Amino acid sequence: MKLTIWGAAQQVTGSMHLLEIEDYKILIDCGLNYENGVELSENENFPFLPSDIDLLVLTHAHIDHSGNIPTLVKAGFEGQILCTAPTADLTQLLLTDSVSIFMRKQAKKAPKRGRVRKGNFIHQQPLYLQKHVLDTTERIVTLPFNLAFKVNENIEITFVPTGHLLGAAAAYFKIIDAGGEKTIAFSGDLGRKNYPVLNNPEYLPAVDYLVCEATYGGRLHSTDATIETTLVDVINDACVKQPGRLIIPAFSVGRTQALVFSLNQLFVKGLLPRIPVFVDSPMASQATQIFRKHHRFVSLEAQSFYSQNGDEFEFDNLQYVKELSESKEISNYFEPCIIISSAGMLEGGRIQDHLFFNIQNFYATIFFIGFCAKGTLGNRLLRGDSVVKVKGRDLSVFATIKKTDLFSGHADHAGLIDYISHTPTQKLKTVFLVHGEPEAMQALKTDLEALSYGVKIPRKGEIFEI
Ligand SMILES: [Zn+2]
Repeated sequence: MKLTIWGAAQQVTGSMHLLEIEDYKILIDCGLNYENGVELSENENFPFLPSDIDLLVLTHAHIDHSGNIPTLVKAGFEGQILCTAPTADLTQLLLTDSVSIFMRKQAKKAPKRGRVRKGNFIHQQPLYLQKHVLDTTERIVTLPFNLAFKVNENIEITFVPTGHLLGAAAAYFKIIDAGGEKTIAFSGDLGRKNYPVLNNPEYLPAVDYLVCEATYGGRLHSTDATIETTLVDVINDACVKQPGRLIIPAFSVGRTQALVFSLNQLFVKGLLPRIPVFVDSPMASQATQIFRKHHRFVSLEAQSFYSQNGDEFEFDNLQYVKELSESKEISNYFEPCIIISSAGMLEGGRIQDHLFFNIQNFYATIFFIGFCAKGTLGNRLLRGDSVVKVKGRDLSVFATIKKTDLFSGHADHAGLIDYISHTPTQKLKTVFLVHGEPEAMQALKTDLEALSYGVKIPRKGEIFEI
């Protein structure tokens, strides 16, 4: 069989891998490539005929793994899409949100009057529309975790949970081809242990080949504080010792639910001050509904919390903000409070208003709980810029900026080594590292080679006969 790494090769976004077993073609993930400097329209250039792909296997809902599927469908893909049930629902939500983002960008960039230069206009076209999202979700067939599914007489697939996001799974294949039985797995994104709301990642059965993510290669998560102590300290400093407001930018899907559950645990223990907590993101409310719908997949900790205290995403002083008018009212609420809003990197979303009104406020704290890519407003604040542009205005930064990596959804260097080395070296022929910056991959490669594993860092389009 043949493996080609078509995406997330020496970069983080655009996951897409092609597995060819004789003339049967399986695509594993089809993510949006949104690396710095990549035009959105470049995602339309598939290096193969989309109609030639027989099956698409989706590891999880994040846009860098799912966000280009509607483009593939639009371009002629007619096969089925296999994923778990929570992934199906979260993918529909995230793809629909992508369409809104495309539309907003188009509206922002299109000239209000005068001639539209054709060349520029083409780049601003949405990559796909809502009808293509619906065409995509109609193709989804959901599979349970840890139950082998026979694709045909030679190919069997099992989804093995990876934590990371509700529904996330590694795709484990058992394949019979000319050379006999072979196993290959695609990690998708690997979560970390003891993450709020999510179960721990499960080890894969021993495999011959592993395509593994490497986002946190070379880096270790801090271990000197817990989520509980960190949240208590930040909230006390921001809202109790001073009459201030705590603004937490958070991705609506996954990160917000983890944070709300953690705050609820503080509430139950009497550690959360009686100040309002606003979740100001309609998408976060929708995602929370999906977490409730698939409650049997949340962590045992969250399930036992539920049986003792009720809904883990509700507590007395928590309020989900629906209407934009309510959101505007919060911007003018000057009592101590916690505002959780998106977008996590501060590029768009209702968080922009909250920043606009608070960034020049000495009594405001902005607390980052997620990664912010270079070129984003979040990144500029984290690197300490004293003046930033918010909603078109240059504003001085007087608010306190804080961050933690305790809510990162990825396994760190040690977690990746532990996951990979679960398969002994005699069995695992090659580890293909994807989904990481070059330095991260190199750090992981060095340590894996020291353990006698064969490791490759594929270039985009590199083909491997395995
Ligand atoms: Zn992910």
